[in-house]
Parts: sequence; C-alpha cells; structure tokens
Amino acid sequence: MTTALVNPATGRTFADVPSTSIEETDEAVARALVAQREWARRAPADRAAALRSFAGAVDAAIEELAGLEATNSGHPIGQARWEAGHVRDVLQYYAAAPERLAGAQIPVAGGLDITFHDPVGVVGVITPWNFPMTIASWAFAPALAAGNAVVLKPAEWTPLTSLRLAAIALEAGLPEHLFQVLPGLGPVVGERLVTHPDVRKVVFTGSTATGKRVMALAAEQVKQVTLELGGKSANIVFADSDLERAARTAPSGVFENAGQDCCARSRILVERSVLDRFLELLEPAVAAVAVGDPLDESTEMGPLVSRQHLSKVEGFVPAGAPVAFRGSAPSGDGFWFPPTVLLPSRTDRAFREEIFGPVVSVVPFDDEADAIGLANDSPYGLSGSIWTRDLSRAVRVSRAVESGNLSVNSHSSVRYSTPFGGFKHSGVGRELGPDAPLAFTETKNVFFAIDDAPPSTPSPSTTA
Ligand code: NAD
Repeated sequence: MTTALVNPATGRTFADVPSTSIEETDEAVARALVAQREWARRAPADRAAALRSFAGAVDAAIEELAGLEATNSGHPIGQARWEAGHVRDVLQYYAAAPERLAGAQIPVAGGLDITFHDPVGVVGVITPWNFPMTIASWAFAPALAAGNAVVLKPAEWTPLTSLRLAAIALEAGLPEHLFQVLPGLGPVVGERLVTHPDVRKVVFTGSTATGKRVMALAAEQVKQVTLELGGKSANIVFADSDLERAARTAPSGVFENAGQDCCARSRILVERSVLDRFLELLEPAVAAVAVGDPLDESTEMGPLVSRQHLSKVEGFVPAGAPVAFRGSAPSGDGFWFPPTVLLPSRTDRAFREEIFGPVVSVVPFDDEADAIGLANDSPYGLSGSIWTRDLSRAVRVSRAVESGNLSVNSHSSVRYSTPFGGFKHSGVGRELGPDAPLAFTETKNVFFAIDDAPPSTPSPSTTA
C-alpha cells in the first residue's frame, strides 16, 4: 500500500510513499532494540561526536530539506530553510548531552549512594504535519543523546523531510537502525508503536483527540508519554501597550505557517478603549501579508496543507460569519485561504475551538481580571502573548495565565534551550531545554554498602 503526496500549492500528486504494515513496524522495533544496546554501550564522547556529525550533515543539506518541505508541506522557502537550520541547532545543542547527563552521588551513612539516568530503550515518536522536521528533532535529538533508539512515524501527508533526515543520520555515521522512520497510517503504525511492549516511551505531537487515545493505550502498559497537543492561545493587548507594534506584529503571531501552528495566537483580546484604533492598525498589516508560491523567496504565507484541511478551515467561516477584514490569497489550483480577521462573540465556535488555519478572532475585554478570565476560559494552555508597558501588570498577568509558554511584548514561543509544552488539554510533559534528555531516561538509585553503619534513614525495609 502507498500514500500519494500532493503539493499543496498546485493540488497535484508528486510522489508516492509506501505505508508501513504492523509486521514491518514490529521488525523495525526489533532492529532498534539491538541497535540501542550497542549505542548505549558506546563512550559518551563517541555518541556526542556522532550527533555532531549528524548536525554537520544536516547543515550541508539545508537547501535540500527546505525544498522538500516547501513542496511537501507548502511552507514558504525562507521559513523552511529556517526550520532545517533549527534541526541542525537542536542536534548541536543535544550533542553535548551524552557527556553531561550526570547522575548524582548523595551523601548517606554506611556507603555510597549513586543515582543513574539509564536510557529507556526504544522511543516511539509520532509527529504531526504542520512542522514535520522541527517537531521530530525536538524528540529524536534528546532521545538519541540520552542513549536511546528512535522509531519515528511522520504524519501521512508530510513524511519526506523525516525520511531524508533518517538517511542523513546514516550517511553521517549513526549506527544502522538507531533512527528509523516508518511512513504510514496513524491507527496502524502509530498505534502499534504505542502498544508495542518494547517501545518504552512515546512522544506524541498532534491533536488533543488523538493524544487522549495515545495516553489511554499507553496506560495499558504503564508506558511513559510526552504529549504536545492543540492550542487556542491568547494575544492580550492592553491599552497601555505600544499599540502600533502590537498590531503590526499580530499577523505574524497567528498567520505564520498559514495558522497551522499549535502556538498560533488565534484569540486577540483587546482592551475595549483601544479596540477601534487597534483594528485600524491591524487591517493594513493583514493586507500586507504576502501569500503565494512557497518557492518564491518573498512569500510569507503559503497554502494550507491539504484539500481536507482547507474544507475544515472553511467550515469555521461560513456565509454570514462576522468577518472584519481579510488579506489576499491566490485563486486557482492549490489549497489557498486568505488571512481572515473575525469579530465574533465570546461564545462563537471560531473563538473557542482550534481552527489551525489563518483565521483570528478579535474580542474586547473590560479590565485586567476580565482579560485573564477570558484567556483562561479555554481547555487549552499552550502559548500566548501579553502586550503592556506596565512591568507589574506583565508579571501579574503572565503568572495568572494558565499556559506553558508566554511572551511579553513579542510572539516568541520556541527556543531549543528553554522548556516547551502545554497546560491542561495542550499536553503532558515538556520538550526542549536542558532537561529534555532526562525525559528519555529511567532514574535508578543504587546504594553500595561499604561498612556496617546503618543507612541514614533506617526503616524495617532498609536495615536488612
Ligand atoms: P493528528 O492527531 O491527526 O495526527 C498526529 C499524528 O498522529 C499523525 O502522525 C497521525 O498519523 C498519528 N495518529 C493518528 N491516529 C493515531 C492513533 N490512533 N494512534 C497513534 N497515532 C495516530 O494531528 P494533526 O492533524 O497531524 O496535527 C495537528 C494538531 O497537532 C493540532 O491540534 C495542533 O495543535 C497539534 N500540534 C501540537 C503541537 C505542540 O507542540 N503542542 C505542535 C504541532 C501540532
């Protein structure tokens, strides 16, 4: 069986990729188990050198990876180039981890007590289609660094950059079968990775609905999971902010990657006294978003990923929807949808549900408490922005908003050196940052008795 890949900018099929079966998934996991044991035995410096070599090979392939992503996913070429560079940087950052993943020696009486961080073994990684290679790297780089093997299932529509990254890893000298990519269907390959007894940890990035299923299946085997799920993040604009900058940058906070971004600030909450002025400033900024051919260097926003996803996004803007204004988009072939600004009510579906497209809702608030209440009135809690010149307010509001990643007077969400992840239905666990490799380990504590002195905390079970 194969899956046809469609170029989202043209609507035309350009490649066929085989779909992995359950039996082939099992074979891949068995191979990964063997490769992992050898990898974990290697000296940390050797593993670090192999990851640096992988990073170097990604650097040499940036143009190739960017071209693949632009064609397969419709990402503007400049953005796709940044994504490939980000994969290199993530690998470079975690290449230091094998030599720094230190355990701890804790002072106790009567012996030596050491805490080790052992690799979990084989890690299953399941990725979405919106940022195929960057999201994959957030899991495979720290997992490999911590001594694990990785079996990755990319999203059905966008497997090409992940497949190429696995080939690059091999060319760069990583052991065979240590990092395998299995294209295929979620309910087949994805579920098998979650239920396979030899896959000891699963990192899943995707919709909240699928994440719940993954978590329930993983519970059957008491398997570790990290879940990176949906979002409906707020961009809170106070009257005391630099309103021009807040309005000028708001489109980049939501329309980047055509709004197919889990961190998209798709709810703009504006203090009522400056709502009209904000909208006046926002309209030309939305009109200026350059929507078009992903391979054109000047393009800022490409098409949506698929016809199916285009239909879903269109469903949020039916005839009679409260559209304030829209940007432009090419007509004709391809899955195009213009940047769209809605003025909905607080109960409108478009304001409450994740659209995952270039549609943003602007809703006014009355005061700080109302803004915080509105921001938190969502099952999600992934990202968000706060615009104000009042430092005390910035501290108060950022501490009160229930979200894993916030930025004040900017729309920054992801830095590989800082932790990333969501509250509530946006996820479980964190990726990135210095502690990420620890999430791919089992912590083991060993007490070595060296004389007859009692342990420091005697109890019936520890005095023997
Ligand atoms: P999705 O849940 O449909 O699919 C995600 C992945 O899961 C795909 O590889 C798919 O094949 C696989 N899958 C599907 N059914 C499965 C099953 N039963 N068992 C195991 N795997 C299965 O999500 P999507 O539409 O590809 O991605 C969009 C969603 O991802 C959005 O909700 C978005 O917010 C979220 N997302 C979150 C983050 C984050 O970091 N929090 C990042 C990117 C995307």
